[in-house]
Amino acid sequence: MKTKVVIIGGGAAGPKIMAKLLRTKEFDCQIDMYTDENMISYSACGLPYYIEGLIEDVNRLIVRRPEQFEELGAHVHLNKRCIKIMPDEHKVFVQDVNSDTVEEVEYDKLAITTGARPILPSIKNIHLKNIFTVRKVQDGINIRNKIRESDTKKAVIVGGGYIGIEMLEALYANGIETILIEMNEHILSIFDPEMSDLIKEEIVQSSNGKVQIITSDAVVAFEGDDKVEKIITANGRVIDTDLVIVSVGVIPNTEIARDAGIELGVSNAIRVNNRMQTNIKDIYAAGDCIENFHLVSKNYAWIPLGSSANKEGRCAAINISGRYDAFPGVLGSAVTRYNGLSISLTGLNETEAKKYGFDVISSIMTKKDKAGYMPQAENITIKLVVDKRSKKILGAQAIGSGDADKRINTVASAIQADQTVDEFLHLDMTYAPPFSTAVDPLLSAALVINNKIFS
Ligand SMILES: Cc1cc2nc3c(=O)[nH]c(=O)nc-3n(C[C@H](O)[C@H](O)[C@H](O)COP(=O)(O)OP(=O)(O)OC[C@H]3O[C@@H](n4cnc5c(N)ncnc54)[C@H](O)[C@@H]3O)c2cc1C
Repeated sequence: MKTKVVIIGGGAAGPKIMAKLLRTKEFDCQIDMYTDENMISYSACGLPYYIEGLIEDVNRLIVRRPEQFEELGAHVHLNKRCIKIMPDEHKVFVQDVNSDTVEEVEYDKLAITTGARPILPSIKNIHLKNIFTVRKVQDGINIRNKIRESDTKKAVIVGGGYIGIEMLEALYANGIETILIEMNEHILSIFDPEMSDLIKEEIVQSSNGKVQIITSDAVVAFEGDDKVEKIITANGRVIDTDLVIVSVGVIPNTEIARDAGIELGVSNAIRVNNRMQTNIKDIYAAGDCIENFHLVSKNYAWIPLGSSANKEGRCAAINISGRYDAFPGVLGSAVTRYNGLSISLTGLNETEAKKYGFDVISSIMTKKDKAGYMPQAENITIKLVVDKRSKKILGAQAIGSGDADKRINTVASAIQADQTVDEFLHLDMTYAPPFSTAVDPLLSAALVINNKIFS
């Protein structure tokens, strides 16, 4: 008899599970995916670049269409929201988003991939027109339409995380004067303060006076009759604006899991083991709705990223199909960019490493990313964080017009290979003048630390 697999959510993790199960020929299953959206499998990560105008057709962001899965024998149910899970009965209740009719669906194995949603802070008048969050394809379409209206000249971005920075780039590229307001002392607070300050400096410098970044101030109210016209901050600033992007973070969609008795962990994300199993038999979870095991801190953290969602989805599918796979955890490796500046990190920053009790030693190195005489050579700044006691690499941050992320990926591999800084120094990395320096800036940063430890 076919195993009935039900997947809730069709973002990144859900379709990954479906695709992998469909490729597992020896697993005889019937797969049904329910999503409350009218599409599945799109790249939310691509939305800032669609909004910017780098991608003309929004359909390019769609990775897989329901028909592609249907042709392979799976069923995709659009506009159907799962409202309740009954684990003892192996049932879920699904509501049609348009008609409110509810149907009961039985499962043998259930995968929860409900993702996350933007936080909507309780700021006065947040529901005025032209105040947007960025998560769904329709958000991208709405924002792009708004910025292309001829009377859209000024914007405010609330929140200086990755999405805030990517939206800043999109608005700047469209000639819109934009002010980003971050209530913390630093933007991109997952970087150490000196690196965040450098990022801020570089962003402002490269924006020809069209972009302003205000830190340590919070938006407390929006004003306008029907649409937003002004924002008011805690420090008394009054700023005129034609549109607002609210990007103050996300929260996991885990209410139906919690109500079904599924254990939640950090930030109310679902706790799973390394096989993506929840505490309830036959229920798996993957993607932004789960917390992650951090490979350096050895603690749980919630780091919702598309890169992890795909790996977790694959792991869930393998285990659902009765085979064995274990997902070890994450480093939180991430990259973004602003006007050609790559901004990337992996592992723990110095502040976090200290919090977890490591005896931190770090180095910051600014060097050319290619041989200095090459016309394309640009500065790259790398910060490396190492534990003095074990000499293990804990994390790295890199900023530069060059390939910052290639250095960060190298560090990520070294951390996962459990390398010490002196082992790392012997890495056989590529070199030719158009690509790097004879001693790569990353190895120079490691050398500084090595000298500090062994001198
Ligand atoms: C603007 C932007 C840029 C990003 N850039 C990057 C990047 O560069 N790199 C990176 O790694 N990550 C990036 N991310 C994050 C990445 O998009 C997410 O990590 C990824 O989409 C997570 O996939 P998921 O399947 O877990 O969740 P989601 O993509 O959120 O999908 C979950 C789906 O489940 C549906 N759903 C929720 N509840 C229910 C329910 N009860 N019933 C039915 N359906 C339900 C939701 O509507 C949604 O369609 C970015 C995100 C955004 C918004």
